This record gives sequence, C-alpha cells and structure tokens, in this order.
Amino acid sequence: MSEALRVLFVEDVQVDADLEIRELRRTGMKVDYRRVETEPAFLEAIGDFKPDIILSDFSMPAFDGMAALGIAQANCPHIPFLFVSGTLGEEYAIRALQKGASDYVLKTNLIRLPAAVTRAIAEAKDKVDRRAVQGELERARQQLSSIVEALDDAVWSWAIDEQRLTYIGPASRVIFGRDPEEFCTQPDLWRQVIADDDKKAVVETWRDLLAGTGSFDLEYRIVKADGEIRWINNRARLIAAKDGAPARVDGIIRDVSDRMAARQRISRLTRIRALSSAVNSAIVRLRERKLLLERICEIAIDVGKFDVARVLTIDKASGRVELVAETGARSGKFAGIVARYNANPEGGDRLLSRALKSGQTVIGDTLDTNGPAADGLGEPLRSTTASFPLVIKENIVGTLMLNAADNQVFDQEEIRLLEELTANISFALELIGHQERIDYLAYYDVLTGLSNRTLFNDRLSQALTVSNREGTMLALVVFNVVQLRSINESFGELAGDAVLRELSARLKALSNDPASVARLGGDRFALMIPAVKGLKEVAQQLAEERFRFYETPFNFEDREISLMVRGGVALFPNDGSDADSLLHNAESALDQARKAGETLLFYSADANTRVAERRKVENRLQMAVENQEFELHYQPKLDLHHRKFVGLEALLRWRDPDVGLVPPSDFIYLLEDTGLILEVGRWALKEAVTVRRAWKEAGIDAPRVAVNVSALQLRDRRFIRDVEDALAFSGEDIGLDLEITESMLMENIHEGVTKLRAVRDMDVHIAIDDFGTGYSSLSYISTLPVNTLKIDRSFISGMTEDPAKTSIVTTIISLGHALRMEIVAEGVETDAQSQLLRLLHCDQIQGYLISRPLSREATTMLLRGDKK
Ligand code: C2E
Ligand code: MG
Ligand code: MG
Repeated sequence: MSEALRVLFVEDVQVDADLEIRELRRTGMKVDYRRVETEPAFLEAIGDFKPDIILSDFSMPAFDGMAALGIAQANCPHIPFLFVSGTLGEEYAIRALQKGASDYVLKTNLIRLPAAVTRAIAEAKDKVDRRAVQGELERARQQLSSIVEALDDAVWSWAIDEQRLTYIGPASRVIFGRDPEEFCTQPDLWRQVIADDDKKAVVETWRDLLAGTGSFDLEYRIVKADGEIRWINNRARLIAAKDGAPARVDGIIRDVSDRMAARQRISRLTRIRALSSAVNSAIVRLRERKLLLERICEIAIDVGKFDVARVLTIDKASGRVELVAETGARSGKFAGIVARYNANPEGGDRLLSRALKSGQTVIGDTLDTNGPAADGLGEPLRSTTASFPLVIKENIVGTLMLNAADNQVFDQEEIRLLEELTANISFALELIGHQERIDYLAYYDVLTGLSNRTLFNDRLSQALTVSNREGTMLALVVFNVVQLRSINESFGELAGDAVLRELSARLKALSNDPASVARLGGDRFALMIPAVKGLKEVAQQLAEERFRFYETPFNFEDREISLMVRGGVALFPNDGSDADSLLHNAESALDQARKAGETLLFYSADANTRVAERRKVENRLQMAVENQEFELHYQPKLDLHHRKFVGLEALLRWRDPDVGLVPPSDFIYLLEDTGLILEVGRWALKEAVTVRRAWKEAGIDAPRVAVNVSALQLRDRRFIRDVEDALAFSGEDIGLDLEITESMLMENIHEGVTKLRAVRDMDVHIAIDDFGTGYSSLSYISTLPVNTLKIDRSFISGMTEDPAKTSIVTTIISLGHALRMEIVAEGVETDAQSQLLRLLHCDQIQGYLISRPLSREATTMLLRGDKK
C-alpha cells in the first residue's frame, strides 16, 4: 500500500497510541493518525480526517468505546472498527463483535495488531464491494421483474425436486386465463390445460428433456379457463445445480394462435390449390360422370385433406337426390339424410334443402342440426360442412359437399377457390352431358327412348351369338305403323309423336329386356323373340293377345286413334346367319307384306329371286305403259232394292303379251313404286269416261262408272287437273265415281280432303273403298265429302256364319245411312250373303255372285241385256 493508512485513535493515553503506531510501522505500514478522546472530536474526525480504520480503547474518562462503536455504525458502517484495550472481558468482546466491531486486540498483545488491522481493512473493503454488487443485483432484479411483468410471454421455472412450478409470469393470466398462483399451488395444472389431442406428445417431450435432450421447443394446444383453445409455443431448458445434478427447468411460453392460424390457412390454401389442379387434371382425363365424381371425392380427401367429400345429384324429372360419390373416414353415414330429404324435400334436412334450393354456397354444421341420434351415428359430428352447388345453365344439378376436419372453418379465400373449383366441375359435367347426349343420340331414338338401328344391330348380334351357342332359333320381327303419316297429317305431329311413344312403351312392355326392341326409323320398329321353335310357333305367338299391343286405341286429346300394323319376319338361322342379313331379310319381308297388302309375311328365300324378277317386271311395265298394254274390266254393282245395275267398277288389267291377263295385285304396287301409276291412273280415268260416253252414244243405258284412285295419284299436284281433263271426254252426263281406300284417305287426310271437295264439286262422286279395314271412325268419315261406303270383302265373306262380322256390317250400314251415304257390299259370293245384306238394307252389292269383272265387250253385252 503506497498511501499512508489513516488511523483514527479513540484513546485517552497518547503513549498507548504511539505504541500501537510503532507496532504498525514496524511491519512497514505507513501510518497517518489522529487521536480523539471525546464524542464531538470523534464525530468531527470521521467527517474530515476520513479514517481508513478506527482503533478504539474500551473505557476512557470522557468517552466510551461502545458508544463510539454505535456512532461509527450509524455514520460510517463501512469503516472497520477495532477495539484495542487493556482489559476486555469475554462478554464485552462478544457484545462488541455483535454490534459490528471487526475485531479486538489486547494492549498487552499488540503484536497481533497489524494483522488484525490488515484483515479488518480487507474485510471492510470486501463488504463495501459486496454491497455494491448487491445493489447492482437488486437493480437488475427489479429491472428484470418489470420486464417480466410487462412481457406477453410467460416465463416459468419448474423445480425438479418439488415437482412443481415455482414461478410463472403474470402473462399466464392472458395465455391460460389463470393466475400464476394457481399453477404454483396446483402441481398438475400445467398438464391439465393441455388439449387432449396434444397431451401425450407434450408429456413425452417433457420426459425426453429430463432424460437427456435438455431442452425443447414445442407448439401445442391448450384449453383456456373459459374453454377456448389456443396454440402456444413453449421453450424450455434444463438447469443444473452446482453439483451438476438437474435442479430445475426454466422456460418461456408464448401464445402463437394467430401465427398458427395464419400458417394453417396458408397450408389449407396451398392444399386447395393442389386440390384444384388435381381435380382439373381429372376433369381433362375422365369422361365418365360417375368415375369423375368419385375421383374428385378421392382427391378432396387425399390432396385437399377434407374429412368427407360427397357429390349429390338431383334427378331433374323426379326431383330426387342421389348420392353419387362419397369418400372419407366418416363416409357412409349420409344415406339416411338423403333418404329423409327424398321423403320430404321441403322440410328435409335443412342444409341439404337450402343448398339444393338456393344455388349458393352454404356453410353449416350438417349433422348437428339433425343430431347424432337421428342418424344413428353415435358420435356427434361437429365438423363444418360446406355445400357448393353444381350448376349447369342456371339449373342446379347437384352439390359438392366437403367436411372440413378438426373444426376448421372455411374462410373467404378458401370458399372463393372452392367455388371456382365447383364451377369447373359443373362445366365438366355439362361437357360430359353433351358427350352423353351425343352418345345417346348415336344409340337411342330420342323420341321413344328405344334402341336405334345401330344399337339394335349390336344387340341382335349378341343375341345371335347366344342362340348359336344354345342351338335355338330366333325370330326377328320388323313392323311398321300403317297410318303414321295420316295421323301426322290429320292430328298434327304431336299426335304422331304421342302415338309412337305410347306404342313404344307397349312394345317395351312385351319383353323384360328393353334391348330386344328398337325403333329402326320413321314408322318402322323391330322386335326379337329368342328361343322360338319354328315358323308356326312365331305365327302363333304373334297372334296372341299380347303381341296385338297396337290394337287398343291410342288416346290423344280426347280422340281415339286406331292403328294398323304390318310386319315382316325373318328367322335365325334359316333366313340369315348374322344380324345384318337377318335385318335385311325381315325388312324385305315387310316390304313384301306392304306390297301384297298382307299384315304379316315371313321371309322366304325366293323373295330374293323375286327381287330380280321384279326388276324385270318393272322394265316390262315400263314397256307396257309405252305400248298401251293396259285395259279396264268392269264389274257391275247391283241395286238390291230395284234389282238393277246401278254402277260399274273399272278394274285395271295388264295384257302381258307373254303371260296373258295379269291381275292388279301383281303389278299395281310396282306401278306405285316406279311412279308409273300416275300415268296409268290418268289413262284409266280417261278410258272409263270415254268408254261410258261411247256406251251412251251407242244408246246403252250405262250406269255410273267407278275408277280406283291410288294414294300416289291423290297426292299428286296434278290430280284435280287430271280429273278435269278426263271429264272433258265425258259429255253432259258425267256419271263418274272415284274409289279411294280408307287407309289411303287416312294417310293424306288434309290434302286429300281438299282435293276430294274440289272433285266432288265437279259432280264426281266419292266412294270409300275397303271400308272397315282402316280403323277410321264413322263420325270422322262423316266430315268427309263422301257419297258411298264400300264394305270390305273381308267382312262380307263369312258374315253369315260369324255374328261378329254381321254386327260390324249392320253397324256400318245403319250408321252410313244415318250419314246419308250409300252402302255397297264388296265380294258378295253367295245368295245367303246377298239376302242377309238385303235384310240389313244394304243398297248395292258387288261380287262374283252377280258377275266377275268383265272385258269392255262383255260388259257392253251385259248392259245391252244380251246375256241376261
Ligand atoms: P277393289 O277396288 O276392292 O276391287 C275389288 C276387287 O275384288 C277386284 O279385284 C275384284 O275382282 C275382286 N272381287 C270382286 N268380287 C269378288 C268376289 O266375289 N270374290 C273375290 N274373291 N273377289 C272379288 P281386282 O280386280 O284383282 O283388283 C284388286 C284391287 O286392285 C282393287 O281392289 C283395287 O284396289 C286395285 N285396282 C284395280 N284397278 C285399279 C286401278 O285402275 N287403279 C288403281 N289404283 N287400283 C286398282
Ligand atoms: Mg275398288
Ligand atoms: Mg274393294
């Protein structure tokens, strides 16, 4: 120590002070001193001498050592105070030390003094230093605690030996909604507040920390006192005691809910974007509705991480909802809801009803509103469900429903993305709809929903394969509706469509396999009958009640429409070994039936040779027209009341130079097919009129002459002019009738009627030929410009034996008369028929009984009465 030690003596004896100084100096100390022996002097010296140490006697005349000590402790406790005295009892010594003295040295043992002084000074200095450090520490502590108080984070400390939190910052009030004391007094509370799902992970992490990791940094959910769930971040570190043993764990907790929400939201949005792109690529790839919707649900689970995804569609016609696709852990529990909705769409499940009615995105807790009990699910599902409508051209066609996992909610951005996604799905469904429609159009007849020719051909091939394998026969029936065209024309196309649809429905009902029937086009239908034994069985079957499905009249707007159907049949394997040839042959049998005026014809192999022949005949007919090989024969009509000929029917014959006389049934259809009938018909009109005029001019009392008119003629634009032209040859007394078959009239109703009116206005009479076969009602006929009904031969033949036929004939006659029409019976062959007809007041009869059709010459003779 370079500076002198400043010593303040409290001593009444100078010598004693000197002795002590000497003793100190002896050890090499430099000493400055002052000596006082009264209290005021002592106080003054403390003030201005500023001693490093006080050496005090114990008892003095004017002062007292203990009092000095008290003053020193009060005024300068940092200055060491040593007693140096002659006598000091043990008791006093202890008191002195207790009161703050540093040491005591006996005057008799001054040799100890320097060491005692040195030590006291060192100790005092130490004390001062320590106090400074303590002050420093206290300041730091205060600062820290104010920081901790102000912190949003909760700092905590856990004592390992006590197994409890010894400290947690006041932020616990905000973070946990609990006072720090609660944690410190309830050792298990920290564990209790952890959300159930996260408890296990947190406890394990804590165990790992104690077992060796030494620290953790963990995010997990806690449940606040008010039940709110928050995310916290908890960072902790193991603190060891001096001996290295773990003493406590210190940590800090921060509420990271907002950050977690943001992070989750970003990851959800990312997921939804990924979902979108996966769905879009599925849309591009998959062209089949159900497959696509199923795939979308899978993607929603795998990529979108939704809990459940489902697609519901609404059937437009019935309004029923169908669960088309569903995926997810809790799937399969929706069927009940769908059923309930279908049972009562208005009051059914609220969310579903709202979603399907509004066409808007609907967010809500589906199952909560119905309660788990209603669904029999056992556990309540609290997850949020969003329903995104699938809309095609403003029609709600269904909805995509997504259940978010873990009580997540859908935010605006997510909803926007998902709405975009559903719009894409809707668009895809629309495209698929177009495609399906195109496919449908390719295979089905739109009007009737029956298979079309393409599909039927396919099905027929399959059926033939089966028949072939099983060694059975299959009958293919092709038929057409005779009056379709006339229904369209008389009642409008709607009526025609309605009839076709109804007919198709009846046809479908024939078989439980809808693929066994088809509409081949227009008025043409097909039906396959598998496993038949042969022609005879087919004919029997087709005669059965159920195959006469077309006979029940069709209703359209209060009208009853009757149908006539004509059919052609081909048999597998006899008439064709594959679908194409079988269809072709059945159709050619139908054509044959049409031409022959038959209702049902079986294909026969020589029909093909007939085709070749037909071509030949056509050529020959062409020649016949050019060479005027046609002639008219005349069949008389007898008036039953007056027993005289009142009419002649002109019937066409072809005098084929090679064959002789050919009847009209062999060539009229060919004339019609080739259009030659127009020319021949024109000729017949003129010929009949001309012949009658010739008879008249020859003085013969010629009756009226009736000429048959074909449908093609009636349809021809020139028809009225043709009649006019013919009449130019007739002279004054026209006497011309036109015979038009009932079915022909029905086929051309509008045009036909107008033309017939025009014709009748020229004093030409109109007769309906073959009446009774066309299913037209008499009341309908009454509106037509008709003079005569000719009852078809089929009713006359056998009418005397068959009461049903008699009653038909009776009805026709009486109703015809009521409508002021003349009634002619065709094909009268027997007296019995003739007599019955007379009884029934039929006006005229025509038939072999009276006369066969006769040549012009023979007729002339008949009229002259030469023969009779
Ligand atoms: P349609 O107008 O009903 O003529 C009556 C047919 O019945 C005639 O046959 C006639 O010979 C036949 N017939 C008359 N009485 C009897 C009988 O007692 N028993 C039987 N089994 N048959 C009888 P045809 O001459 O062979 O004529 C057949 C059909 O050809 C006619 O039926 C008519 O629809 C058509 N046709 C005849 N001439 C012409 C014509 O000039 N133009 C047109 N477009 N068609 C004609
Ligand atoms: Mg006729
Ligand atoms: Mg007839």
